[in-house]
Amino acid sequence: GYIHSPEKFPSPEKCCRACRHGEIGENHCENIHFLSSGYDGLTQSIIQHPDPCLIQIPDDVPDEIAVLSELSTVAYTGAKKLKLLDKNEKIAVFGDGPVGYIVAVVLSFTKSIKRHNLYVVGTDDEKLKKFEDFAHTINIRKRAIPSNLRFGNLFECVGGIYSEEAINTIIEVAEPGAWIYLLGVSELFVPMNTRDILEKGLRLIGISRSSRFEYPIILEYMREPEMQRLLKRVIINRFFRIRSAKELTEAFDFAAAHRVWGKIYVRLEIS
Ligand SMILES: [Zn+2]
Repeated sequence: GYIHSPEKFPSPEKCCRACRHGEIGENHCENIHFLSSGYDGLTQSIIQHPDPCLIQIPDDVPDEIAVLSELSTVAYTGAKKLKLLDKNEKIAVFGDGPVGYIVAVVLSFTKSIKRHNLYVVGTDDEKLKKFEDFAHTINIRKRAIPSNLRFGNLFECVGGIYSEEAINTIIEVAEPGAWIYLLGVSELFVPMNTRDILEKGLRLIGISRSSRFEYPIILEYMREPEMQRLLKRVIINRFFRIRSAKELTEAFDFAAAHRVWGKIYVRLEIS
């Protein structure tokens, strides 16, 4: 992210609420270009990019880990907002897909959340197995969340057609005054139980973009071999070497089909 028009907005403080450092984050600003979202991404012939947005990747962070920095910094944007009343508070992550996985890993590393305080709620045993060395897991299709288990911080990483079910379950198991971080993208309007949001005084926050300030922090964590080992799990075994636009389309179609759990690693080898 970068201030789109330095002439018009000489400092972040003068632009908008999102740009003020420490608030929402400049990448939510309506005066910027956000690559691969409202604006073309990395597969352009020539990219001109402001130098404050260029961040050096440490030599000991392998490429296949560094490519996860965007998603990891977004997860970190949520992790940073955690409001824990005490060290032993339990945290819930809803979603056993790659987003839920990265959120859980980032929480565990950057916030030192111990396994006994981190719960991942999903619907697929095979996927949930991947979390088990650093989180407790609950398959909600097989057992309900125990009535004595309630959370003050909950991350929704489901999105899509199951957003409604996930968000309403989250509202149900949230403690009064809990913080709910929404990371799952849905193209549909999602009906939610506002009656209980009001009654419990819940706080819902949307998390979808990080800013350049989170990258150096996450890249530093990515130097740790244990963090690398856990993040590597989210990259599928098949490796995509891209030499043409056709190969790139094929790789993206493969990813969009969601036949396998995880993220695909694409390496551009176009000279
Ligand atoms: Zn702004």
